[in-house]
Amino acid sequence: MSALQIENINSLADGLSGYLAGQQINLVRRAYFYAEQAHEGQFRRTGDPYITHPLQVAGILSKMHMDHQSLMAAMLHDVIEDTGITKTAIKSQFGNTVAEMVDGVSKLSQISFGSHAEAQAENFQKMALAMSRDLRVIMVKLADRLHNMRTIKVLPPDKRRRIARETLDIYAPIANRLGMNDMRIEFEDLAFDAMYPLRFRRIAAAVRKVRGNRKEIVSQIQTSLEACLEREGLPGRTIGREKHLYSIYDKMRSKRKSFSEIMDVYAFRIVVDRVDTCYRVLGAIHSLYKPVPGRFKDYIAIPKANGYQSLHTTLFGMHGLPIEIQIRTEEMEAMANNGIAAHWLYKSSEDIPSNAHIRAREWVNGLLEMQQSAGNSMEFIENVKIDLFPDEIYVFTPKGEIFELPSGSTPVDFAYAIHTDVGSTCVACRISRRLAPLSEPLQSGQTVEIITAPGHKPNPAWLSFVVTARARTSIRHFLKSQKLSESIALGRRLLTKALASFGVSLDSVSREAISSTLEQLRLDSLNKLFGEIGLGNRMSHTVAQRLISLNENAIGTELGGNLLVRGAQSSVMNYARCCNPIPGDRITGFISSERGLVIHTRDCNNISDLRNDPEKCVEVNWDPEVHGEFTVEVRVELEHQRGIIATLATAITGAEANVEKISTVERDAHFSIVNLLINVRNRVHLARVMRKIRMIKAVTRVTRVKSRKTRRPTVH
Ligand code: MN
Repeated sequence: MSALQIENINSLADGLSGYLAGQQINLVRRAYFYAEQAHEGQFRRTGDPYITHPLQVAGILSKMHMDHQSLMAAMLHDVIEDTGITKTAIKSQFGNTVAEMVDGVSKLSQISFGSHAEAQAENFQKMALAMSRDLRVIMVKLADRLHNMRTIKVLPPDKRRRIARETLDIYAPIANRLGMNDMRIEFEDLAFDAMYPLRFRRIAAAVRKVRGNRKEIVSQIQTSLEACLEREGLPGRTIGREKHLYSIYDKMRSKRKSFSEIMDVYAFRIVVDRVDTCYRVLGAIHSLYKPVPGRFKDYIAIPKANGYQSLHTTLFGMHGLPIEIQIRTEEMEAMANNGIAAHWLYKSSEDIPSNAHIRAREWVNGLLEMQQSAGNSMEFIENVKIDLFPDEIYVFTPKGEIFELPSGSTPVDFAYAIHTDVGSTCVACRISRRLAPLSEPLQSGQTVEIITAPGHKPNPAWLSFVVTARARTSIRHFLKSQKLSESIALGRRLLTKALASFGVSLDSVSREAISSTLEQLRLDSLNKLFGEIGLGNRMSHTVAQRLISLNENAIGTELGGNLLVRGAQSSVMNYARCCNPIPGDRITGFISSERGLVIHTRDCNNISDLRNDPEKCVEVNWDPEVHGEFTVEVRVELEHQRGIIATLATAITGAEANVEKISTVERDAHFSIVNLLINVRNRVHLARVMRKIRMIKAVTRVTRVKSRKTRRPTVH
């Protein structure tokens, strides 16, 4: 579009005559000729002479009615960077202000927003500094980027994607922060097109198609809105609005809405003369169509952080179609579209600085204050990014250090962000001094204190809620290595026991026998062999036989006792969920591939066919020192009575047991059968709990559930 309107310096100058003095236009011309000479012989990738680029950048700024110094800086913005000309030379030609601006833009151009957080922080600081000296510097930089985005098609794909990504990550948010909505939208759509050309085209085609179908409804609604304003004697213009392609794409992706859900909303804007008219228009249209409760927002009384002002409401239109309406004054409209740039656009009419301009200044000043108070550049960048990237959250340690996390992060993510050791030993947390679950999503600004317990281990359940890659990989890595070391230990115990049943001790097996066995099994260490046995991939009995057959000097040992089960489950030792064994029960172990040892009660129905397989079956006993809590299932038959479940729960907790789950499995007019999962220490404890339950009057029968047949057996 601009290529047609600004073909050369003369047509630009013509446009400038609308708002600049002749003297100022001449200065812009001089800057143009100076730059043209400096870039002589240089070409853009498009094949155009280089000077076309600064000329277009100045053209973009002239649309916002930026002053002559900004336009001069635009003309000269690549001179220091791309030609041999110095800042001093520019200063002597065009004065200090313009030279400083050109220097500022050049410095911004050297900033690359790479992934190195520290470098990025320093770059942000430079940017804030350049902006604080003169806000116009960032305007020139944004215009420069906008023209580069408009001509991005000529770049090779990888460079195109990198620049488009950076535009979405840095420049679009800055434009948004400065209230320059038109520019933000253009940035987003150009970058979207550059990054995902196919998706862009598909959505564009879909919008074109839908637009035809919508036309009639849009004009119906518009007519009725206009008639309503007319009747009430409220002057204003009504504009139909359409979402830009990137915002449609973003909504589909982040809010998981379908294309038609997004396009089914009809959006209008009513622009009026004065603030009080806004509220009168609101009243009028609320009596025309019913407003959707909870959707009215008064950004006039409370402007957004970037200075945006407007009334927002949603109405139920005819046939219940949702209609979104924005109501604002002409001045607010200009602010909403051009933000800080509106300051220059309307400067001639009034001399007081615009709302957006004041806010932009405040923002930049705030940045500088932060820079001075921040302990280091990293802390500074965290602060800046709170404004720019609402998708990130920023939380504090009790000592005031800031951590940046993706939104949705939990205390566990935070703990891992501090240090892997903090993550793996965390047991509880306080969010803003209140005890909170480790899975609670964090919000920006919260202070999070992680409570650790030495020796504590990561919980596999954390994987279901952590969002950061760091937490996820650390937990996975831990579980893997834990499984490995546990399976090695179990394998060693199983093999020792199997050898003992032949009257041989592991220590007396010769090196030669071990190494030739490893060779035959294609394993490179004894630990690997233990691991394979522990995981149930090799049978200890068979391995023991092989070792003994290769070993002549093996010394006899006492026939080994049973394996002892000590307590908590591990990744290679599980309690079967069909029979839920607890200490005191007679138990049997079975080796199951990849799951290691699974402990059943000896009378469990699910193991009858395995019991005669000596290769898989392992004799086990409870360790006399066993401790911990064990899950057991109890079935209670009872008569209906008000509050009976509560009575039941109270009885159980009264016996120092925990209720894990209560479910009613059967129910008729008089009786219910309730299944309980209870944590107990052992059989004696269970007996005490069951006695307490039996003492409840309404209870007619209490039994322990063993060998559930409803679930698939856990032995493979
Ligand atoms: Mn440039």
